[in-house]
Amino acid sequence: MEIAKRTENGSGQCVHLCRPPPAPDLPMQHRGADSGYNALAPPRAYPAPSLPPAPSRLLPSDLPAPHPPCPGSAAVRSPGSRFASSLRVLCSPPRRSAVFWRPWIDDGGEKEQEAPHNAVEAVPLKQGRSLMDWIRLTKSGKDLTGLKGRLIEVTEEELKKHNKKDDCWICIRGFVYNVSPYMEYHPGGEDELMRAAGSDGTDLFDQVHRWVNYESMLKECLVGRMAMKPALPKGMLPQSQVTDTLAKEGPSSPSYDWFQTDSLVTIVIYTKQKDINLDSVIVDHRDDSFRAETVIKDYSYLVHVALSHEIQEDFSVLVVENVGKIEIVLKKKENTSWKCLGHPQENHNSFIPKKDTGLFYRKCQLVSKEDVTHDTKLFCLMLPPSTHLEVPVGQHVYLRLPITGTEIVKPYTPVCDSLFSEFKEPVLPNNIYIYFLIKIYPAGFFTPELDQLQIGDYVSVSNPEGNFIISQLQELEDLFLLAAGTGFTPMVKVLNYALTNIPSLRKVKLMFFNKTEDDIIWRSQLEKLAFKDKRFEVEFVLSAPTSEWSGKQGYISPALLSEFLKRRSDTSKVLICLCGPTPFTEQGMKMLHDLNFSKDEIHSFTA
Ligand code: FAD
Ligand code: NAP
Repeated sequence: MEIAKRTENGSGQCVHLCRPPPAPDLPMQHRGADSGYNALAPPRAYPAPSLPPAPSRLLPSDLPAPHPPCPGSAAVRSPGSRFASSLRVLCSPPRRSAVFWRPWIDDGGEKEQEAPHNAVEAVPLKQGRSLMDWIRLTKSGKDLTGLKGRLIEVTEEELKKHNKKDDCWICIRGFVYNVSPYMEYHPGGEDELMRAAGSDGTDLFDQVHRWVNYESMLKECLVGRMAMKPALPKGMLPQSQVTDTLAKEGPSSPSYDWFQTDSLVTIVIYTKQKDINLDSVIVDHRDDSFRAETVIKDYSYLVHVALSHEIQEDFSVLVVENVGKIEIVLKKKENTSWKCLGHPQENHNSFIPKKDTGLFYRKCQLVSKEDVTHDTKLFCLMLPPSTHLEVPVGQHVYLRLPITGTEIVKPYTPVCDSLFSEFKEPVLPNNIYIYFLIKIYPAGFFTPELDQLQIGDYVSVSNPEGNFIISQLQELEDLFLLAAGTGFTPMVKVLNYALTNIPSLRKVKLMFFNKTEDDIIWRSQLEKLAFKDKRFEVEFVLSAPTSEWSGKQGYISPALLSEFLKRRSDTSKVLICLCGPTPFTEQGMKMLHDLNFSKDEIHSFTA
């Protein structure tokens, strides 16, 4: 397929393609023969950010090669230019600039010995503004850039605009940081930091602490990369990419690239979005068809090609978090040079709302089935080796089986293999196996068929769906879970994730509604967990208990809820999750609204 070297940009203008810089992470032995640019690579006006992962501690020898010409800094390097003179003023006297970057000392211990002799006294910090406080803030999940997790390409004009204390961007080695949230934590004082506001601070930084681990310290403040100017056709006005990107409500469109070595082909997806995880990308390779779907908020970006050459079954997926880069490393079957990645397939290189995409299925093998209660079983399915799929917390998938000649589909929510799986080594690696707690209804349509499957049989599993967002758990203090019957399933991963990953969490309370004691899923595990982790409490409520039952009984009610949902304080951040039979969930929602919980404080799991 012929891919033009000129193409239309989003506004209908023609732009020349800018050849992307070679990807830095693997030695480039061979590139696509089409003059180093790949036949299927998408056009783009600006090179997409390709940031190296931040080393845990940056030593002078670890520093990246000189950054691409960034407006201010390039000028500094050419004496006599306008920028050089203005920055030289900023850089003197050297004694003061020594303080400028002093705070970005790694917390790794050697800091004081490494501090230059000419460093002056640090400015006293307010209480609650220590290095530890800063680290805590960066791990809190707060949006420190104001860009809601997006990474953007910053023009020189845009950088200059952000030159105030409450809106201060600084460029270091071609990467732009919003340092406003850091101001009060900066031991050198706000004024010192402001000396580089809206400009390139690389040289100031280098004069003092080239080895400081600023990439790690400021990674949550990363706004994006300085944009290089595209070559525009004559007579065309340059358009500010940043203004354009900021103005848009949805995420900006990802792009991809590929490169090769003798034995590997690496496909790189630049999502232009922070907080991309391994569960953001789903990869399937079947015959010669290669498919990588990246989910970004409510949108889906698809790379879908028929590969030009054969590859081995297994591949690896790497994610550079906070930079939004995904690398899929394929192993060639033969060490030949690929001229192109392959031929585009349906919806290749599209970025469309997720609701407009069809469900994609792959066949998974049943590897075990275990009784949990008299009618509920733990099913373990194995993904094919040529699939990378991790179902995000709070999301479900669809299982598909042919029943009397028709493909029948029902939704199910994956769980962990046990409530303690995060606290111990999983029995089986959880990126290959998916577990489900499924109740078998004897008169049901789908579950009896599922129950008939033998170990080794196949069932199709779709891509994940659902509207639970993990950020709902950030900074949470009180988490309340209201589950009825198998409505417990989405609570399993939410509970595990919250107890393991949310430092602010003080309490997780589960109210679990069932008919009888025999119906309670994982009762002893829940009681053990409550015993082991004092933050967790569980209360069982039965609608049809035996006479021996001394616990709570009845149905969901305002009286039960108001007693159960005691928040720590009026201002504490609370989330209430609900799941069960539809009428249970609907009644529960109404009761919670009547109890004055806001919409943001309630999440109901539905299809
Ligand atoms: P159905 O044929 O749907 O019947 C279910 C029961 O209802 C049977 O007892 C049947 O006799 C009865 N019934 C059906 N129709 C009627 C009727 N008209 N009047 C009276 N009774 C009727 N389930 C799980 O076990 N685990 C999960 O993890 C899970 N996750 C889910 C996630 C989502 C997002 C949703 C929406 C549902 C989830 N479910 C889960 C439920 C699951 O999708 C199925 O609905 C369930 O397994 C029943 O399927 P079935 O075809 O066997 O039963
Ligand atoms: P179940 O055993 O029938 O019911 C569990 C408890 O809820 C019982 O105590 C039951 O009381 C009570 N209950 C039932 N209907 C109620 C109502 N209208 N009001 C108040 N309480 C009610 O539950 P199940 O068979 O496991 O079914 C679980 C449901 O959860 C299914 O409908 C499934 O689709 C849903 N689910 C949804 C998701 C999701 O959306 N993500 C995930 C998993 C499961 P009595 O039976 O004694 O009346």
